[in-house]
Amino acid sequence: MELPVLNACARCTALCCRYVAVEIDEPEDDRDYDNIRWYVSHENIQVYQDDEGGWYIQFFTRCRHLGRENECTIHPNHYQICKDYKMRECEFTLGQGGEKRLFRLPEDVDRYLALQSARREARAAPPRASSRNGKGRPSRNGRPHRRQKTGAR
Ligand code: SF4
Ligand code: SF4
Repeated sequence: MELPVLNACARCTALCCRYVAVEIDEPEDDRDYDNIRWYVSHENIQVYQDDEGGWYIQFFTRCRHLGRENECTIHPNHYQICKDYKMRECEFTLGQGGEKRLFRLPEDVDRYLALQSARREARAAPPRASSRNGKGRPSRNGRPHRRQKTGAR
């Protein structure tokens, strides 16, 4: 039987006390993306965009007030941000990995930009002329032309 959400903290290893996430401006230009490459060149740091479109830098670092049994040693005098955190929407209850976009390494930024660029090019490409049964263009051997494979979709 699944335990009620109320018991979640008792079963969790205090996932929410092991990082700090700070909102950052949405990247707009090369300089901004280069900054993200630099952020994620550091250990224990990642950048993500959440489902609501917000961009965050996340530092994986344990809170000093987290006790050996994963308890908050300054409860009930912990910080307002901790009090406001909703267990029903936390990473333990909902599961981790819900980021819309995740950058862990500088190469992730390169891959993301290459994909964005390929999508822009695909959108900008003029529509193909209609060619029924693939016979619109002649080919030397009389067979229809094959479409070329492209890497990115
Ligand atoms: S709020 Fe969620 S992540 Fe934090 S200790 Fe409770 S169950 Fe774990
Ligand atoms: S103050 Fe307490 S509840 Fe807040 S992050 Fe630290 S250990 Fe967790």
